[in-house]
Amino acid sequence: MFFLDSDHVYRSRSFAAFDWLEHGFGTRLSPGFAAGAEVSTLKQIHSAICVQASAGGCLGEGDALVTSVPGRPVSVRTADCLPILMADERQRTVAAVHAGWRGTIQGIVACAARMLGRAEDLHVAIGPGIGHCCFEVGPEVAGQFRELFPERADLAARTSIDLVEANRRQLIRAGVPPSRIYPASLCTVCRGEFHSFRRDREQAGRMVSMIGRLS
Ligand SMILES: [Zn+2]
Repeated sequence: MFFLDSDHVYRSRSFAAFDWLEHGFGTRLSPGFAAGAEVSTLKQIHSAICVQASAGGCLGEGDALVTSVPGRPVSVRTADCLPILMADERQRTVAAVHAGWRGTIQGIVACAARMLGRAEDLHVAIGPGIGHCCFEVGPEVAGQFRELFPERADLAARTSIDLVEANRRQLIRAGVPPSRIYPASLCTVCRGEFHSFRRDREQAGRMVSMIGRLS
């Protein structure tokens, strides 16, 4: 579903098939990816705040950026949190979302989906982030996932959480067809090609993920 291009940027095959779209999930080997004055960014605060991008540069606080302006890409920075890119095929609106566990609990992907348009027209690529294999949390965090994982009886103790599945469930609940949700299934902690806050702590850099409308 994903491939690594010659610039060390992961791309979704489904998104790459749209000629009106540019996108990519950066790695630690693509530090200059999506740098430029025209790219919109946010000061990320682990919220469910979605911002309509009106200009390039940093547009204030929030964790999702939406745009429909050609030549005005939007981006997020991550190191274990999930970068999620969204595209509305019909209206050609796009979004970049930063979803860590706090943003996931607050429903940031559903917020971005509502801002984009009709859920049934959306395509969603879930990029590299901390995997179920590495995301062990205490009961104070696990307990907040009860509503998303009602089938689990182990959330009152230390356990592992699947952030990709949590976001997938929210998207499906919002009306996005499951066949249009594309998870990369690449764990940033396990794989050295990525920055990881859990692995590298204060030394961790950030990866840039970007999506934009070309026409
Ligand atoms: Zn892992």
